[in-house]
Amino acid sequence: MTIMSDSTQIDIAQRLTLVRERINAAENNHQRTPGAVDLLAVSKTHSSAAIRRAAAAEQKCFGESYLQEAQDKINALQDLDLEWHFIGPIQTNKAKGIALDFAWVHSVDRLKIAQKLSEQRPEHLAPLQMCLQVNVSGEDSKSGVTLAELAELAQAVVQLPRLNLRGLMTIPARTDDLSVQRHAFASLRLALEALNAKHDLQLDTLSMGMSSDMEAAIAEGATIVRIGTDIFGPRK
Ligand SMILES: *Cc1c(COP(=O)(O)O)cnc(C)c1O
Repeated sequence: MTIMSDSTQIDIAQRLTLVRERINAAENNHQRTPGAVDLLAVSKTHSSAAIRRAAAAEQKCFGESYLQEAQDKINALQDLDLEWHFIGPIQTNKAKGIALDFAWVHSVDRLKIAQKLSEQRPEHLAPLQMCLQVNVSGEDSKSGVTLAELAELAQAVVQLPRLNLRGLMTIPARTDDLSVQRHAFASLRLALEALNAKHDLQLDTLSMGMSSDMEAAIAEGATIVRIGTDIFGPRK
């Protein structure tokens, strides 16, 4: 048992090192500023012990998709100085818990949810950092505002108190074709550039790229990559 948990410990630290090396290499290969891409470690379904090992290897930001599961881990890890990002689908009745326990939310795709998060964000906390989730692949994925409806949503969300609209997030349809991956991520970058240019916004965050497509995302301007499997191993 002891030997097993020791080897897992080495594994997560080693996997983190490999992921950081991939990020650095992609920054280099695509003329990105060194350090321009932040790593969000997606810990959903993994234990607080696994998160503790990643934290020991200097990982600070963690992404979770299910509120109850996340809150259990947040409570168990209160002794660490971690930053929690909510990246899963949001039901209205979960908005309060998310507004209390998270620094960032990446997955807002409706004004009603943004309004609830704004109302529920406590005054004593920093504004909730927010990305709008965009569906760039058309009918293939179910979550996310369409490109056609994005500007209207962004202009409404940016007015809300206690929130800081930072940028856009996407989960494109899965494909191994690098040029198709890049095309989807380029659409998100162009959407962000258009919002800034035409609607006088100052969005600075593109949350895009997962274990299987992070190189394409970095090539197209990702500022946060969300990596689960390549750090923690496969999910059950
Ligand atoms: C699970 C998840 C990830 C991580 O995916 P991997 O393929 O395991 O790296 C990233 N983003 C979101 C929104 C997720 O739900």
